Amino acid sequence: MNDILVLADIARIQDYILTPRRLKRNRGASQILHQYNTERLPDLVRTHGGRQIFANGGNFLGVLPAAHQQAFCREAERELRLATGTVVLRSATVDYPDPNTFANKFRELHSQMARVKASTPSSLLSPAMPFWSPCESCGLCAATTRSLYDSELVCHACHLREKASDRYEERLRGRRAIPDDFNQIGSKARPRGYLALVYLDLDGMGEYFNRYATDESRLAEISQRIDQSVTEAVDDAASRPELCEVLLVGGDDAAIMLPAHAALDFLEDFRTEFLRRYCEPLDSGNPLPDRPTFSAGVVFAHSHFPISEFFRIASRLQHSAKLLGGCDSVDYEIITTSLSGDPLENRERTARRGAGRLRTAKPYTLDDLLKRREVLRELKPILPANKIHSLYRMVYQGPEQARLDYLWLLSRLDQASASRLRRVVGPDIWSELPDGRVVTHAADFAELWEFV
Ligand SMILES: [Zn+2]
Repeated sequence: MNDILVLADIARIQDYILTPRRLKRNRGASQILHQYNTERLPDLVRTHGGRQIFANGGNFLGVLPAAHQQAFCREAERELRLATGTVVLRSATVDYPDPNTFANKFRELHSQMARVKASTPSSLLSPAMPFWSPCESCGLCAATTRSLYDSELVCHACHLREKASDRYEERLRGRRAIPDDFNQIGSKARPRGYLALVYLDLDGMGEYFNRYATDESRLAEISQRIDQSVTEAVDDAASRPELCEVLLVGGDDAAIMLPAHAALDFLEDFRTEFLRRYCEPLDSGNPLPDRPTFSAGVVFAHSHFPISEFFRIASRLQHSAKLLGGCDSVDYEIITTSLSGDPLENRERTARRGAGRLRTAKPYTLDDLLKRREVLRELKPILPANKIHSLYRMVYQGPEQARLDYLWLLSRLDQASASRLRRVVGPDIWSELPDGRVVTHAADFAELWEFV
C-alpha cells in the first residue's frame, strides 16, 4: 500500500491567541488550538487508517494511506475553520513508500512546507467593509453577537474563544490560581500594576530535528521529550508566583504573563526544571541529544499596555537574544510610554548619537543576568534609590563625563555598597565586550532596580 508523510501546521498561532483584548478570550483561543492539535488531528489521522508521529506546538506529523490524503487534509482544514472561524491549516505531503527513507523524506517534507507557507494566506480574514461594525475585542472581523461577559459586540471568532475559556479553566483547576484578568496579575506585582511577558523558545530546533530524526520512532521520542520537558517545566515554574497566566505552551516555545518582579525568577526556575526533565534517561535506552539552549524576550510594562504589543516586542527581543548563540540568553525592555516603537532600533539610534557606545549591554546570557541581579538584590536594602537612578542619567552624558561621574559616585559610597555596585556595573562605567562593542551595564540595571 502506498503511504504518504503528512505535516500540518497551524498558521499564526500567536496572533490568534493574543489579538483579542480580554484574558478569557486569549485563554479560550489557547484551549481551542490545544485540543485541535493534540486530540482532533490525532483522531482524524487514525480514522483515515494512519498513525501519528508527533502532535504538539501547532504541528502534526503523521503517516497516511495515500488514497486518504485529500480527504484528511480537507477534513482537518474544515474542522479548524469550524473551531476557530479564522485560523488556517497548512499541510505538506510527500510520498513515503519505505520507512527506511524517513530521514530524507522528513527533510523533503520541510522544504515542501516552506513552499506551502510562502504561497498560501495565513488567515481567513476577509477585507473590512465600510458598513461593518468591527468586533470590539479583536477589531479584525465583523461584530455579530454580544459578548458572554459584557455588553461588547464581538465577532464569531471571539464568541468561539469565549465559549472555550471554561474548558481551559477546568483543565487547570486545582493546579494553580486562575486570574480573572491581566489587572489582577498586575495587582500582585512590584511595582504595583506592572506585568512581564516572558516569551521563550528553544534554539536551533530545525537543525536539532534534522540531525537526530533518523527514523520515525526516534523523532517521536525526541519530539515528545522536548514538548514534555518544556510544558512541564513551564507548568512547574508557573506554580511559584502568586498569580500568572500561561498564554501558550507546547512544542519548543512558551509565552507567560507574570507579575513584573517574578519574571527573572521564573526564567531561573524554568531552566532548572527543563534541564532536570530533559536529561532524564529515555525509556528506550537511546542516547539523548545534548540539551538545546533557549532564548527569551521579556517585556516589562503596565497592565494597561495592549497584549498584542507586549507580544510583538517580546518576539523582537527573543530574536535579539538568539544572536548570542550557544547559551541560554535573555533580552528585555521596560516600556514606560504607550508608543514604544521598535526597541532594537531605539538602541541603535542612541548608539549612533553616543559615538558608537551602546547605552546597554543587552542581550545577556541568563547566567550573567542572574548573577548581576543577585548583587542588585543585595544592594537594594542598603543603597538609596536615587543613587541607582543617577546611573541612568550618567550614561547619556559624554563618555568621559560619565566615567568621572561614576567614579565620583563610587568614591562617595561605603565600601560594601561600592564593591557590590562594581560587581553589577564594572570597575569602569564602560566595558568592552569580546566582540569589540563598547557598552555599559549601568542603565540596564538602573532600570531593573524596581523589578528585582
Ligand atoms: Zn473578534
